[in-house]
Amino acid sequence: MKTATCDYCKKKTVVVHRKYSGELICTTCFTDRIEKNIFQTISKYKMLKPRDQIVVGVSGGKDSLSLLYNLIKIQENNYHSKPIIAVTIDEGIKNYRINSIKNAIEFCKKYGIEHIIVSFKEKTGITLDEIVELKKHTSENKYACNFCATFRRRLLNETAKELGADVLAMGHNLTDIAETFLMNILFKRFKLIANQYMFKEKSKELQKYFVKKITPLMKIPEEEIFLYSNLKKIDYYPSHCPYREKDPILRKRVLEFIQDCKKYSPEIEFNLLNGFLEMSETLSNNYKSMSYNTCKECGYPCGNTNLCLYCTYLNGVKE
Ligand code: SF4
Ligand SMILES: [Zn+2]
Ligand SMILES: [Zn+2]
Repeated sequence: MKTATCDYCKKKTVVVHRKYSGELICTTCFTDRIEKNIFQTISKYKMLKPRDQIVVGVSGGKDSLSLLYNLIKIQENNYHSKPIIAVTIDEGIKNYRINSIKNAIEFCKKYGIEHIIVSFKEKTGITLDEIVELKKHTSENKYACNFCATFRRRLLNETAKELGADVLAMGHNLTDIAETFLMNILFKRFKLIANQYMFKEKSKELQKYFVKKITPLMKIPEEEIFLYSNLKKIDYYPSHCPYREKDPILRKRVLEFIQDCKKYSPEIEFNLLNGFLEMSETLSNNYKSMSYNTCKECGYPCGNTNLCLYCTYLNGVKE
């Protein structure tokens, strides 16, 4: 931040320099722009309908609490739908999740939001820490995130379904989406990219299983959410998951690569987002007529195998 004239209110004050657009913005106009960005993303991509039941996935971190803060205002002022419900998944990660859950609980209490906590232990019989311990002498021990993301995705979707959700709002920001898209390309996960196409009208059959996911922060870079949540004094849990640091997976390196590219091409994350939107649409049309099986254990749709990933992982950790 430095002192200059704000491009919006023309006051000479402390400003934020957005490298990707060249804008100089004072902190008041900056938080206003972020909120406008979220509202415009929701409107442009028709993420919400007036009477939708909105369920928000809340971890207690800066992204999910900034999202919840904005959705509360948007829902009250513009959509007048049923009250928002927040859902937190407790993976069972010692010295981490227990702390971030406290921030989520406090935040929901402050804003009078119904808050539901669902744990891996109660739903799958095992915590993520126990899975890591169980797998520590196998080649699978590297993949805490694989187990975690698969279980969390399922439990979030299942809980949202049980709560009668029309949409499940997630706090993924621009940086997260750019990183995931690049990862999926590197691993040639084209079907996954196709499935992530967010404007696809799901068939009645698929709607029985999956709640529509929305990502209203998808056009805001991580560092701007960080600045926004600090300027708005949102009380979030600041630390990262310990497994992210330990995991020798590619994700961290991909993120570092993107951060490095941003030094020379500040707009790179936006290119990746636009690439994702375009490619997911093309691939989704390409795979449209492909049939899918249903999992022999849980009944969820599962590509061309007979056992979905959730059940495959679950069977691998059952004693
Ligand atoms: S970093 Fe990996 S293990 Fe930690 S919460 Fe995220 S997905 Fe789970
Ligand atoms: Zn200004
Ligand atoms: Zn299954």
